[in-house]
Amino acid sequence: MFRQIRGKIRRFVLAHTRSGRAYIAQWEKKRRGECARCGACCRLAHRCVFLRMENGLAVCTIHAHRPANCRIFPVDLRDIGDRDAILPDRPCGYSFPADKKP
Ligand code: SF4
Ligand code: SF4
Repeated sequence: MFRQIRGKIRRFVLAHTRSGRAYIAQWEKKRRGECARCGACCRLAHRCVFLRMENGLAVCTIHAHRPANCRIFPVDLRDIGDRDAILPDRPCGYSFPADKKP
């Protein structure tokens, strides 16, 4: 739980600082795949009130207006680790090949 809250704060800071945005852009180049709509990242620390599950797929009811924290997820391997703790049997649709830092 503490780790998940820390992750949320970390992403907020990354999304709202110049150096953070540069870090995000760097990792984005390494990111592969697309969202598989598992909803794990919408349940970090708590279940988001805007999350709805339909036939096993996550639906964000404010998708067009979702906050930066949601738009940038997963920033890096640390975020993948956070969501894996929530849903270990269903992987995130995104990955960062070879565990290499950019
Ligand atoms: S954990 Fe990954 S696949 Fe699941 S909803 Fe979030 S970004 Fe999409
Ligand atoms: S606002 Fe939408 S994308 Fe963000 S956590 Fe909630 S349901 Fe998920």
